[in-house]
Amino acid sequence: MTQGGTKPHTTGEQRQPRVVIAGAGMTGILTAITLRQAGIRDLLILEKRSSLGGTWRENRYPGVACDVPSHFYSYSFAPNPDWQRRFASGEEIQAYFERVFHTYGLGTVTRFNQQLVHSEYRRGRWHLKTDCGHTYQADFFVCATGILHHPCYPNIRGLDSFEGACFHTARWPQSAPVDGTRVGVIGTGSTACQLIPALADRSQHISVFQRTPQWIMRLSNPGFGPTTRLALRRLPSLQRLVRWSHQLLLSHLFSKAVIGRKVPHWIISTLCKLNLKFSVRDPVLRRKLTPDYTVGCKRLIINSEFYRAVQRDTVSLETAAIRKVVPKGVVTDDGKLHRLDTLILATGFRPFEFMRPMVVIGEGGVTIEQQWRHKVQAYRSLLIPGFPNLFLMLGPNTPIGNFSVIAMSEVQVNYLLQLIQQWQQRRFDAVSARTSAMEAFNQSLKAGMKGTVWLGGCQSWYLDKDGDPAMWPFSWQRWVDEMAAPQMDHLRLHRYGNG
Ligand code: NAP
Repeated sequence: MTQGGTKPHTTGEQRQPRVVIAGAGMTGILTAITLRQAGIRDLLILEKRSSLGGTWRENRYPGVACDVPSHFYSYSFAPNPDWQRRFASGEEIQAYFERVFHTYGLGTVTRFNQQLVHSEYRRGRWHLKTDCGHTYQADFFVCATGILHHPCYPNIRGLDSFEGACFHTARWPQSAPVDGTRVGVIGTGSTACQLIPALADRSQHISVFQRTPQWIMRLSNPGFGPTTRLALRRLPSLQRLVRWSHQLLLSHLFSKAVIGRKVPHWIISTLCKLNLKFSVRDPVLRRKLTPDYTVGCKRLIINSEFYRAVQRDTVSLETAAIRKVVPKGVVTDDGKLHRLDTLILATGFRPFEFMRPMVVIGEGGVTIEQQWRHKVQAYRSLLIPGFPNLFLMLGPNTPIGNFSVIAMSEVQVNYLLQLIQQWQQRRFDAVSARTSAMEAFNQSLKAGMKGTVWLGGCQSWYLDKDGDPAMWPFSWQRWVDEMAAPQMDHLRLHRYGNG
């Protein structure tokens, strides 16, 4: 129990830290399980909503799925032989996280409906407050709050005047009026490409408002039949082999392609171009769907249904810019009114918010807003100078993109565990990144960005306000190697004699 209390528990030589984790999504669950397995018992997960699951709880739009192969989009310690398809549906993934959460007994350490609103560091302790007024203290504070969870609402004139239902894909209402109605979808990112085919059979008509075309790679999504699933259950080594083969494919093809390795990039570029050429027969439509930037510059979309859906009679691709929204629909720059009953905003997220709007106050009363006023950055994506004992899971420059965020988080959580273990051995009372180390880290990232495709002439959510991609510009193996153990000379160690 971490509520109240001022001193860490001590058992023999090693002391027991109190760890509070913000968020019961994929990274929060992972952190809690990993720390528990390492013998850390005083854990608390504070979850803002009434249920777990993070992104998979929030994204309930029709067609939601993960375009990372399911056997690789799973915790390494909790393989799932029962995945139904190569790319699992959102519902199946949510069920997986619920199962893991309960199997590892995390219900006893989780409090729901407790949104952290205030956190302040004072002499080796984090003092935390939730929206219902509960207060907690912690030696370590892990922000497992995710990246893509603040919906980005477009700034379009008249949006509020729309008479029909209008909602963001991550705020999908239970009885969304999409059946037999005229639907407008703004955006053609990964979300829209999953949503539009799923609505195509249900809606009377779909107007797809595309601002920028996207590169799409086709990968089939075969189901795993009962025999395959039985074999995977009986033969754990087969399951490991399947996982390993997916990891190999993604790390050597996709990850290397985006950091500018010529052969992998040529392969994915060719596959995307062939996909467009052979999937879309009408040259006019094909031209509308052809991007003018390098493949991978925006997050590569893996999808085998979107092109088919936009060629249906009941779906139209609108490429004229949106001028305004009016009560009856959307008016485009060609003066046309697109009459709609429902307007869906598949307009993405604000990825640089991270744990905010929580107030986070570090050493000397410096807020996270002040720390990040020039740039949102962290040392090794995880540690923020001046914010000791705070870990930011999936922070800036985590190698996201077309790779498993679970695999990335497992690397991060092992890194933070090693620091907590050093704290247990009393090597310090608090640890933070040195500013000089963060600057050197970010300079090396910036130098590495030069050859990457993210600077390939497009706008994307990867880019910060300076136009720098908040991505990892090196190989997956380098991420694993560099995160294998903390480099202690990059860190500031604080001693307070707390216990
Ligand atoms: P997104 O990739 O950021 O796409 C947003 C779309 O909305 C873009 O087409 C954008 O156009 C358009 N848009 C935004 N504001 C607009 C405006 N004012 N007027 C017209 N169009 C506007 O968002 P997302 O599709 O939700 O995907 C976000 C990320 O979530 C993905 O990149 C991926 O990392 C993750 N995701 C993953 C999966 C998966 O299967 N693993 C599935 C869904 C999402 P522009 O391109 O012109 O900006």
